[in-house]
Amino acid sequence: MKAIITGGNRGIGFEVAKRLVARGFEVHVLSRSGLETPPAGITAWKVDVADYESLKAVLDQIGVPDVFVNNAGIMNTRAAADYGREHIQEILDINLISAVRASVDLADRMAAVGGGRIVSVASVAGQIGHPDIWYGISKAGLINAMRSIARSHGARGVIANSVAPGPVDTDMMKSIPEARKARLKSATISQRFCSAEEVADAILWLATDAPVYINGEVVDMNNGVNYR
Ligand code: NAD
Repeated sequence: MKAIITGGNRGIGFEVAKRLVARGFEVHVLSRSGLETPPAGITAWKVDVADYESLKAVLDQIGVPDVFVNNAGIMNTRAAADYGREHIQEILDINLISAVRASVDLADRMAAVGGGRIVSVASVAGQIGHPDIWYGISKAGLINAMRSIARSHGARGVIANSVAPGPVDTDMMKSIPEARKARLKSATISQRFCSAEEVADAILWLATDAPVYINGEVVDMNNGVNYR
């Protein structure tokens, strides 16, 4: 069994990679900086997923996976008014456009061999909005794309779902000011951020054991988040 994870060199993606290796998968992680010494079972590829042609070339080399995890993503904390065309294009290319193009391509190829599972790492931001308006839009688009792929390819064995976490304790949160972090934590039931391990457990479930009737869905993991 083969799995491909975009952005799997750290954070949530790396936790998913380790779990899939433990389940017997041959795992390929695709990130901009790669992995110096990949653990056994993981092959690391250096690729900027914003450049779809490069991403496609790597995917073609790896071949059809049983599991594809769309995890690579970026987020900014500037106010929406500060965004220039370049930022908008970059965040949409990485978080949405390449992810959707790769998913559609792999869904076609999975369907041709009897099926497979695609999991997208979306966000609660895709449901309730976000200070980085383009981040929220990219994640909403990803959720919608998984639903569309489930509808178009589900009857041919392709399962496509999303997870939608609230704030997770990873490098992505480092740029958030401490006062905002405290506010975000206090808006959750547990008064803390989710861990990368917890998100990875949910992704692993969707990628392996979740009933196939769960298709085109979103697994919410925002801990009752209540942003004002
Ligand atoms: P992270 O910053 O540690 O991981 C981001 C990953 O994306 C890294 O592996 C990075 O190498 C990769 N990446 C970014 N741009 C890339 C590019 N152009 N080409 C290739 N790889 C690229 O943070 P994380 O929290 O582990 O993020 C993983 C996913 O989870 C992201 O899609 C993020 O939007 C989503 N998410 C994070 C949070 C959070 O609060 N941390 C909440 C909800 C959803």
